[in-house]
Amino acid sequence: MEWGQAVAVDAVAEALKNNPDIAGVFVQGSETSTTVAHPIQQISELTKKTDALLVVDGITAVGVYPMPMDDWGIDIMITGSQKALMLPPGLAFIALSEKAWKRSETNDIPHFYFDLKKERKNLKDSTSAYTPAASLIIGLRVVLKMMLEEGLDNVYKRHDILARAARAGVQALGLKLLAPDSPANSVTGLFVPESVDGGKLVKNLRENYGVTFAGGQDHLKGKIIRIAHLGYFDSFDMVVALAAIEMGLLKFGYDVQMGAGVAAVEKIVNERY
Ligand SMILES: *Cc1c(COP(=O)(O)O)cnc(C)c1O
Repeated sequence: MEWGQAVAVDAVAEALKNNPDIAGVFVQGSETSTTVAHPIQQISELTKKTDALLVVDGITAVGVYPMPMDDWGIDIMITGSQKALMLPPGLAFIALSEKAWKRSETNDIPHFYFDLKKERKNLKDSTSAYTPAASLIIGLRVVLKMMLEEGLDNVYKRHDILARAARAGVQALGLKLLAPDSPANSVTGLFVPESVDGGKLVKNLRENYGVTFAGGQDHLKGKIIRIAHLGYFDSFDMVVALAAIEMGLLKFGYDVQMGAGVAAVEKIVNERY
């Protein structure tokens, strides 16, 4: 599977069929490094019919997409405080289906601190097994209230619009998306022109323009940049992002049509008002 492509549902079906003893299927709801959204609901249709647990890394999916774990049949959903939940790092969240709780009954993997059964028991008494990062939990209360005030549907819609705007802006500049077929709504990846060093571009935009992008990893290093749009992001962040890309590329000697990316963003984010 090439980076930038979603996992093929058929390949998962094939693997499950050929290996009936598979204990679990692990997948990212949104794969941040390759800016891909994986077909979680379709995969859950497969795992539902087997003994395998579907474990979803939802760190850039929870708070970005609706991902109703009970309705879809996701067995374990995991997220952290530091992405769409807009908090500093330090909290991890995990939710289990009945199928997953049942599996935990027979789990004999050595563990002490990371004991979900112990946590579950304590939850019933409104406490936790060990001292949690209490300040972050107080922060979490504020963040969740903010999200509920915006309305979860509006939170999802905002991410969808910002993501579509970022993609349209990139394409309006004639640049290629990293994940054109199944792009994530949390982050947009784009290939920089071959004549431009993506690493130097990201550094320049951060240091001289005050706009931060992420670069690529491993073999994509220097070749792509990633525009974040999850959590504390709004329309004008996308306007600024595309303006910075246009100005940065021009500085690096690549002739883009100035304003084309910004115009495409403006047209889409205007849906919000
Ligand atoms: C950020 C992230 C994580 C967690 O990585 P940290 O380095 O601990 O922040 C895990 N999975 C995905 C998909 C992520 O985006």
